[in-house]
Amino acid sequence: ASCLCAEVRRPCTFLVLLNPQSGKGQAHTLFTRHVQGILQEAGILYTLIITEHQNHARELVRETDLSQWDALVIMSGDGLLFEVVNGLMEREDWEEAIKTPLGILPGGSGNALAASIHHYAGLQPVTSEELLVSCGFTLCKGLVSRLDLSSVRTASGQRMFSFLSLAWGFVADVDIESEKYRRVGAARFTLGTLVRLASLRVYRGKLAYLPAQDPRGPSSTSAQGPSPQACPATHRDLPAWNRPFRNSCNSNNTPNPKRTDVPPAPERGPPDSLLAPLDSPVPAHWTVVTDEDFVLVLAVYQSHLAEDLIAAPASQLEDGVMHLIYVKAGISRTALLRLFLAMEKGTHLGTGCPHVEYVKVRALRLEPHSPKGTITVDGELVEYGPVQAQIHGSLARLIAG
Ligand code: ADP
Ligand code: MG
Repeated sequence: ASCLCAEVRRPCTFLVLLNPQSGKGQAHTLFTRHVQGILQEAGILYTLIITEHQNHARELVRETDLSQWDALVIMSGDGLLFEVVNGLMEREDWEEAIKTPLGILPGGSGNALAASIHHYAGLQPVTSEELLVSCGFTLCKGLVSRLDLSSVRTASGQRMFSFLSLAWGFVADVDIESEKYRRVGAARFTLGTLVRLASLRVYRGKLAYLPAQDPRGPSSTSAQGPSPQACPATHRDLPAWNRPFRNSCNSNNTPNPKRTDVPPAPERGPPDSLLAPLDSPVPAHWTVVTDEDFVLVLAVYQSHLAEDLIAAPASQLEDGVMHLIYVKAGISRTALLRLFLAMEKGTHLGTGCPHVEYVKVRALRLEPHSPKGTITVDGELVEYGPVQAQIHGSLARLIAG
């Protein structure tokens, strides 16, 4: 990790984006009470912007002159950071923009990244205001780490970048259904889990993934894939699954010059070199899960899923993998409850429950067959239907302990 203060050699200047509606609706008060003072003590200058509506922060970071700020700090839940990450990736200069150090202050009800950062620092678990103060100190220390992002594609062609999770089934339902309990803070997930347990259901679909440990040997896959700028002639030599499937590089695939239609706007962000188009089969060397009845499918790339849920204790900020956890149908309510209780300590993966599978992956595809359902990315609702994702190692930067 590099130190922000050493990098800029003058007082650090942060842009703080605060969602007044997040959590119990007290983010502004919490910021004034617990954070303002420590930033001032540390000699950090900041401009505070209170968001006025959903996507306000996303629009703002898409347009703003980023050179004014040494870091973009989010005081909210994970949802506001999701907006900011995607706003940065929508910019023409995304490659530079996404290197702007990001910081998180837990002001929401879903504060998974904040809890993860605290956990990575090896500190004793804390919640609520104590977690906020811990994250405030982390910002003052200003140690910048790399952060993996996952690129998520839906059937309509939408692409988004995610720093936390992709969920379907039980976890996604709880994510969304518990939003109405936001006023109880982080306890909304416990409450939502208990409510969902009472109406436990099975979700049908197909799951396939590219294991992080490629059975064909370490040299045959790369987390990043070929560099988009390098435009290597070797694209031709790559197996079909490993070629960028959009024409980010069309030297050997020149479009018909007689075409009169307007070409689509170039896609921003690195190419998803590990993914085949959603309407064709997954690459032959992927693992296709034979079970098609699930209770939940969760890909998580941080340790925590909520302040008190350690979904992937082994996860790190830049391990270049997604931690795929899925629970097969047939698990009893009691066993599922036991699983969630164990997740509070992060011991759920060692309980030997035969319905639980855990594998580290670089890419995955999910094709729900159930006609209705919920898919969330970083806790936010996205289009329901086939979806696939791949990890892009170390794409962003984050102020972490
Ligand atoms: P929480 O953890 O409480 O859910 P989030 O940061 O996830 O907090 O924010 C919840 C939702 O509110 C997100 O979808 C975010 O995009 C949206 N949002 C951001 N700013 C505002 C605002 N000013 N008013 C309403 N919604 C907002
Ligand atoms: Mg949220």
